[in-house]
Order: sequence, then structure tokens, then C-alpha cells
Amino acid sequence: MATERHGALAPLGVLGGTFDPIHTGHLRLAEEAREALGLGGVRLIPAGRPPHRGEPGSTADDRLAMARLAATGNAAFAVDDGEVRAQHKSYTVLTLERLRAELGPQQPLVLILGADAFEGLPTWHRWTELFALAHIAVANRPGYAPHGRRWPATLSPELDLACRDRRTADSAALRATPGGHVIPFDMTPLAISASLIRDLVRNGHSPRYLLPESVLDYIAAHHLYRK
Ligand code: ATP
Repeated sequence: MATERHGALAPLGVLGGTFDPIHTGHLRLAEEAREALGLGGVRLIPAGRPPHRGEPGSTADDRLAMARLAATGNAAFAVDDGEVRAQHKSYTVLTLERLRAELGPQQPLVLILGADAFEGLPTWHRWTELFALAHIAVANRPGYAPHGRRWPATLSPELDLACRDRRTADSAALRATPGGHVIPFDMTPLAISASLIRDLVRNGHSPRYLLPESVLDYIAAHHLYRK
């Protein structure tokens, strides 16, 4: 995956998730972030052992396989198996430290989050350290408007404080430093979630066109999410 653009290091997007299963919302999030923010590529990183939720409905290996199928054909996407292979819980701060060590101190990294994930940031392990390790890009996610308002009006005081002086609307700022900015961006509203897809399959309904056909075939072949 090329990270060099116009002689400077193009920022690398980092999209983690349970991906149980990966779906069109995730893929559009990655693609629209890439385009809107001028990213050189996006690493899709399935969580091995997600710290914030119960056991996923499919194994880490299945979720990794589905992410690989979904990324096939997009040269800007790469699937990173680091969290699936790790023995420890899938903490984003550890993943960013690993990427920082792998790619060097100059490489701009952009952690891509949906607005719902971003609002939960203060519950994440060593969350205040994330800002120094990467930029954070926040996509407005449809249907997610806590207190009836849109981000960034909805931030908790501690998150608001952490973001103060970091906010930018200019994607060019992401190339200038390896991390440290928080940038919101709008994406095409897609009210798709992995839970919706699991529910549809469990109830015998079709989730077709909410996710890639190859992932749908994998779910059917491996009898995932039937109960
Ligand atoms: P679940 O329904 O099981 O909670 P999910 O669909 O929210 O799962 P995750 O793997 O938990 O998927 O999400 C990974 C990341 O993708 C998060 O940052 C989340 O905000 C974002 N995301 C998921 N679905 C969408 C969507 N439809 N639009 C924008 N962002 C999304």
C-alpha cells in the first residue's frame, strides 16, 4: 500500500472494529475517509478480543477471513491481523504503538471512528495517549445523535477538553504532523450495523446488499449467526 503522495508521507488510515461481520457501512467509512482526508490507504484491523463488548457471534478467524474477502479488489485497503494474533485484549493504544514502531515516527496515522465510537473514547484503555499516537477522524454516523444533537456538540466535558486545540477542518493538517489533530467528516448516511445483519440472518431474513456478496457467501457456507 503506497503511503507516498506528492513526495510527502500520505496519512495512513486505521479502521478497527469487531467486524462481526464487516459490512458496507465499514467499507464506505474507510473509502470515504480515504477520499475526504487524502489517505494513502486504510488498514482494516479486526479486533481479536474486543474489550468493550461480549463475545462476538463469530470467531476471530472468521471475522478476519470476512474482512479479507471484503477488502479484496481495493488496492488501498489492507487487512491487518495483529489484533487477532495478539494474546492480549484488543486495545487500540497498543495497536497504534505497534504501527508507530513499524512505520516510524514521521508517518501520519489517522484513527477512523464512527461518532458513536468516538463518544465512548473516555472508556478506552489509556485513551488520552491516543491523541499523541495518531490523528482522529470522526465520521458522522446516521441515527446516532445522542441528546438529539450532532457531534461535536455532544461531547462529554472530558472528551471536549481533550479535543480542545486539536480540532481542525483542514485535511492538509493531517500530513503536516504524525498525529494530534481531531477532524470530523461527513459520510454518506448508511444505517447499517453488524447487529442488524446478525439479526436478519438469525431470523431467516436476507441481509443481501448490506454487505459484500463474498462475505454473505462466507456467512452461509460457515453457518454463521444462525442462533
Ligand atoms: P455492532 O452492530 O455489532 O455493534 P457495528 O456495525 O457498529 O457493530 P463495529 O465493528 O463495532 O461495527 O464498528 C467499527 C467502526 O465502524 C466503529 O468506529 C463504528 O462507529 C463504525 N461504523 C460501523 N457501522 C457504521 C456505519 N453504518 N456508518 C459509519 N460508521 C460505522
